[in-house]
Amino acid sequence: MALIVHKYGGTSMGSTERIRNVAKRVAKWARAGHQMVVVPSAMSGETNRLLGLARELAPGSTTSALQREFDMLASTGEQVSVGLLAIALQAEGLGAVSYAGWQVPIRTNNAYTKARIESIDDQKVRADLAAGKVVIITGFQGVDGDGHVTTLGRGGSDTSAVAVAAALKAAECLIYTDVDGVYTTDPRVVPEARRLHTVSFEEMLEMASMGSKVLQIRSVEFAGKYKVPLRVLSSFTPWDIPIEDEARSGTLITFEEDEQMEQAVVSGIAFNRDEAKISILGVPDKPGIAYTILGAVAEANIEVDVIIQNISKDGRTDFSFTVHRNDYARTVDLLKTQVLPSLGTDRIEGDTRICKVSIVGIGMRSHVGIAAKMFRALSEEGINIQMISTSEIKTSVVLDEKYMELAVRALHRAFDLDQPAA
Ligand code: ADP
Ligand code: ASP
Ligand code: MG
Repeated sequence: MALIVHKYGGTSMGSTERIRNVAKRVAKWARAGHQMVVVPSAMSGETNRLLGLARELAPGSTTSALQREFDMLASTGEQVSVGLLAIALQAEGLGAVSYAGWQVPIRTNNAYTKARIESIDDQKVRADLAAGKVVIITGFQGVDGDGHVTTLGRGGSDTSAVAVAAALKAAECLIYTDVDGVYTTDPRVVPEARRLHTVSFEEMLEMASMGSKVLQIRSVEFAGKYKVPLRVLSSFTPWDIPIEDEARSGTLITFEEDEQMEQAVVSGIAFNRDEAKISILGVPDKPGIAYTILGAVAEANIEVDVIIQNISKDGRTDFSFTVHRNDYARTVDLLKTQVLPSLGTDRIEGDTRICKVSIVGIGMRSHVGIAAKMFRALSEEGINIQMISTSEIKTSVVLDEKYMELAVRALHRAFDLDQPAA
């Protein structure tokens, strides 16, 4: 019998009826002799509701003091969930105890709203497990060195679950969600998307970082760092299906490349609307320009993603890059006040209506012409590519956001992702 971590997302915890189902499923595993730790998210819609209230009272403001309070507020959603789940488990006749992040404690740094887990104390949890209890720990939240509540960024309960599994050296971390695994792309956008039986850790990392929200990227990073066996599966199967069947369902994240059952060149397509593009026109084409622009942006702790610089004409060139949409206004402001005057231009353009679409696959390493095939599929749909960025196992393009779904569907078809794997 093993120590197992289950994580249940917001939809899976969305009503008392669903929470009762979660409790019955967990009870089934516990009664089979497993030591169970459960990490639930807030009930669906709750985190958005809470943050909406905050924004009503303080629109647009992002001071650190305020972000502390955002975390205090947003973390309550998960506290409700753990309490309800412990009550439901006790009603099922099981010993169960719930903890908030600070009680475990799950220690993080103090980067409010996007804190990183630094350590997890396993003592209390191990004592409860030894006493035969199911332990329920809030997702999404932790506590910093000074005792302030922090949250881990949207979708952060995945990361809490994997980090708890790593700290406890759990045999497996099962991520229960509202789809029955990781698909070739979001099945809500492409109904023909196929479920992958396995996906390599590297591919999952790229898919998550390029926008597939089925797993938060940091959870995948943790799984890789601590080699946590990780599976994504549905919470909507009947709770009483045999454990052996449940344990084999969904998608397994694999760490060995030769375990790859589905060696497609492209395994999946990810997309997001999280970024905005900024172009500075007519900058002098001379050494140090990229540094002058991007150095100032980095200094302000703003992450830059795709970058392009055009060829120069008459000693001047255009320089474009993307940042997270939330950082867009701040970046433009910073460039206008601190950077443009020294570049001898005041021409800056921004576009928040872009999207990024990426094809991902470890098979791309050993195949040529994949990017060309991507560009052809987009051109056949009349979609203009604004920016391109590549790595060994992915190619991303920046497009007008109105083409996002069309592009994803066209690429899904072009790379035969709707066909059963060979
Ligand atoms: P949870 O609340 O369980 O954490 P999320 O909404 O965060 O669930 O993540 C699950 C959702 O991720 C699915 O409902 C699906 O729409 C979306 N998704 C995006 N890309 C993929 C993909 N490649 N495979 C499966 N689901 C995906
Ligand atoms: N409740 C948090 C959110 O909505 C964390 C999570 O669901 O993973 O982002
Ligand atoms: Mg999620």
